Amino acid sequence: MFACKNCGGNIIYDIKAHKLVCKICKSSFAPESVTKENDSVDYDYFETTIFTCPQCGAKIMCEDNEASSFCTYCSSATVLTSRISKEKKPDYIIPFEKTKEECIQEFKKITKKAILAPSELKDEKILDKFKAIYVPYWHYDVTQQNRFSVSAAEIYSDGNSNYTTYVKAEGDIDSKFEGISRDASYNFSDDLCERIAPFFTSEKKKFYPSYLSGFYADVSDVPSEVYEHEALALANDVAREMVSEESKKDGYNNLKIYLSNDEATKQFDTKAVPRKALYPVWFMSFKQNKKVAYMTVNGQTGRAASDFPVSIRKFLIATLLLTLLFFPPSLGFMFLFYENASNIFLDITLIFSIAAFIIYYVQMKMMQIRDADSEDAGKFYKKYGVVYIKNKEKNESVKKLIKDYIFDLAVGLMYVLMVICFLWETLSILSVTGIMDVFFKIILTFGNLGLAVIGFIRGGRLKNSSKFYGILGGMLSLVFVLAGLFIAPSNKYLCIASGILLCLGCFLTIMDLIRYHNELSMRQPPHLKRRGGDEIADTVNM
Ligand SMILES: [Zn+2]
Ligand SMILES: [Zn+2]
Repeated sequence: MFACKNCGGNIIYDIKAHKLVCKICKSSFAPESVTKENDSVDYDYFETTIFTCPQCGAKIMCEDNEASSFCTYCSSATVLTSRISKEKKPDYIIPFEKTKEECIQEFKKITKKAILAPSELKDEKILDKFKAIYVPYWHYDVTQQNRFSVSAAEIYSDGNSNYTTYVKAEGDIDSKFEGISRDASYNFSDDLCERIAPFFTSEKKKFYPSYLSGFYADVSDVPSEVYEHEALALANDVAREMVSEESKKDGYNNLKIYLSNDEATKQFDTKAVPRKALYPVWFMSFKQNKKVAYMTVNGQTGRAASDFPVSIRKFLIATLLLTLLFFPPSLGFMFLFYENASNIFLDITLIFSIAAFIIYYVQMKMMQIRDADSEDAGKFYKKYGVVYIKNKEKNESVKKLIKDYIFDLAVGLMYVLMVICFLWETLSILSVTGIMDVFFKIILTFGNLGLAVIGFIRGGRLKNSSKFYGILGGMLSLVFVLAGLFIAPSNKYLCIASGILLCLGCFLTIMDLIRYHNELSMRQPPHLKRRGGDEIADTVNM
């Protein structure tokens, strides 16, 4: 606690006043003028209270003793243990600019669009749980100062053929990058931090412990080396571009610099100096089925980002409403006016099911990409003690790209075929019933089955996700429809039964998607003491 020089009351940093203000006598003080008795002795360290959550093990710094009833990270009500600790002083801090009310307003803007998000996230009482937390960041100052000599190639075309000339680019480089930032917190994921970026580092202030009065601060635990290569790579990329840009003066219009990151670091003598900084984030967690979703708002700019689980209850209600609204009237209309209604019904449900399975396929692809990308460098370090470098071997990624490309091309072709059939079906919906109609229906159903199987296999490959089996229901319905088309394509009752089964299959498939989405958008609480087979193996690695 920081005490008021005039009355001894608790003084707290006021976001709008940019000063520490006394709760009792309203005197205000500049942060640099306020110290605790013990602080002046040691310049590198400061004394603070660290609270530890017995549920999830997360640690948080706080000057206030109110922190002791609720864990912000795992969202459980629990008594946090506290101890006085000496912490290394960060170099910089960006003080909060946005108040809690402003943050809640920004957050509401993004929840408005998320119609299917749990209603709790729109509840004022729950929004009141937003906490002001300073998140530790590594703030790299990068310099490049050297005489370089690098191989490059100029590619040009005279309209008929392309030519490549190999050249050597030489010159002097002298550049500086200030504040390339990466979050240093294990509790915060890189992806959320990226989504609320940027922080304007020019607004940073020299750190004084009194800035923390009335706020929480995360205890940093990711070493600076973890992100250093990213800072270097960023500077090297800019340098390559600068060299290419500079060469235009000498008549080279399309100069490509061939340098690996390590070579570039050597050539440009790229050096990074890490400094620790605290950035302001409004933070809240939401618990559901042992997992937590995180809501964050940038405390400087007000930019909000959140994990949005889909409320299954809301989804079921929406589906039920839509079904009741559209199905009985349209079915009734069709059966009254068209002789061939059962066939049309099957056509329409097939069209629905194409949409559902294409969405499933595309979503699975996207989840797979997100899953592969989601390896958080900080978490990776914590687990394996190895710095995770995102740019894998070039060859490997090119190979993978080609493989993926061919695969998606094949699926794309199948899709085109399906669209043609789909168009045919739509055009012929009112007239054609012959053998062609059955043939196209079979192709459509086969195509759907393909999409479902590939999507299902992709789902199984997701490492952060458990498997869901609703899609198997979708596949079964397709198999049933296929069988029906082969056995008795013109049987009215079979057509109607097939259509209803298809709708059920679509529903189960989309349910799977929602559960996958929820699984991926929710997180394991940090450091959670886990029990059970696989998870013990996981802990051993940590
Ligand atoms: Zn006072
Ligand atoms: Zn906790």
